[in-house]
Amino acid sequence: MSRIGIFGGTFNPLHVGHIQCVRTVRSRLSLEHIFVVPAAQNPRKPRTEGPKDSERLEMCRIGFAADAEFVSVDDREITRGGLSYTVTTVESFAKEHDPSEIHLIIGMDQFDDFDRWHRIDRLLELTNVVVVSRMGHPIPQMISDFPEGLRPYITDFEKGFAQLSTGRHIEFVRMSDVDVSASDVRRRIRTGRSVERFVTIEVEDFIKKHGLYGPIGPRIGDYEQFARFCGDALYNKKGLNVRGFDLRPTSAPSEFAVVASGTSTRHASALAESVLNAVKDEFNVFPQSVEGMGEGRWVLLDYGSLIVHVFYDFVRQEYRLEELWKDGRDLGLKDPLKL
Ligand code: ATP
Repeated sequence: MSRIGIFGGTFNPLHVGHIQCVRTVRSRLSLEHIFVVPAAQNPRKPRTEGPKDSERLEMCRIGFAADAEFVSVDDREITRGGLSYTVTTVESFAKEHDPSEIHLIIGMDQFDDFDRWHRIDRLLELTNVVVVSRMGHPIPQMISDFPEGLRPYITDFEKGFAQLSTGRHIEFVRMSDVDVSASDVRRRIRTGRSVERFVTIEVEDFIKKHGLYGPIGPRIGDYEQFARFCGDALYNKKGLNVRGFDLRPTSAPSEFAVVASGTSTRHASALAESVLNAVKDEFNVFPQSVEGMGEGRWVLLDYGSLIVHVFYDFVRQEYRLEELWKDGRDLGLKDPLKL
């Protein structure tokens, strides 16, 4: 087999943006075969609520069934388990294929911090990279638009094609925008909206049949108790000014909120991480989405009816969420160590 593509991702779930990406790259670059490789755990994304690995694999198989002639779903990252580093995966493909024929396919959103991927130097020796356009993420027009850490590798850049000193290249492929993300699909399902335009009928049937992405409420039970539990977890890691609110009397989007701050962005991320772990251990539940964990300025853990906001204290003053919640009921959270 000669020219191949590797398309990794969480595929939680597989949506039409992914399918379009694979079809477009295959025809533009005349690739012979594309391997779709679902990750066990993306090292750059916090784990969120979702289906089993085997169910994500199955959704990929079902969603690409019509393209089986040139696409196969490869389970090597799931079989390997743990954090799925792309370089390890590409190394294993490089044992089977000539690196000049390997094309790693990523979306433009992934490219923004591509220079920080694990062992990027090795990765750029082992594979060419194909970057597909994605809404809201402009394609570089000149070398200075590339992520800083990639610039030293570029020996020439013209017409969306960057030659690298490693002998490999990076090329940009424009495809008609498909404005969809997996997180958007999950949110739509949870809130009972249609996903007809975003996933294939077969994938939608699979999601329905297996009851995927349903509300986590039944596993949590009493959300007021749950808010107190998260408050304790924050106090235990020295969270500052931990407060909880019952927002049912207000028009806020969630029923409960917990807010706390850390003394630094690092402390804020560590606080959010400790809630995440405590909830996982006690309730076996992951948040439905996590935002801002990397920056630690305002980290948001979405547990459906409860949203936990952890701020770097300095940033908390800017947003004054508690003023928006003043018509809610203050849960009067107390530091369990001082009771
Ligand atoms: P999430 O919303 O959970 O972050 P996602 O929709 O970005 O997920 P992934 O499984 O992380 O899905 O994506 C796998 C690959 O597909 C990534 O390289 C990503 O950039 C690319 N991709 C996903 N959606 C699109 C899209 N609509 N257009 C172009 N590329 C996409």
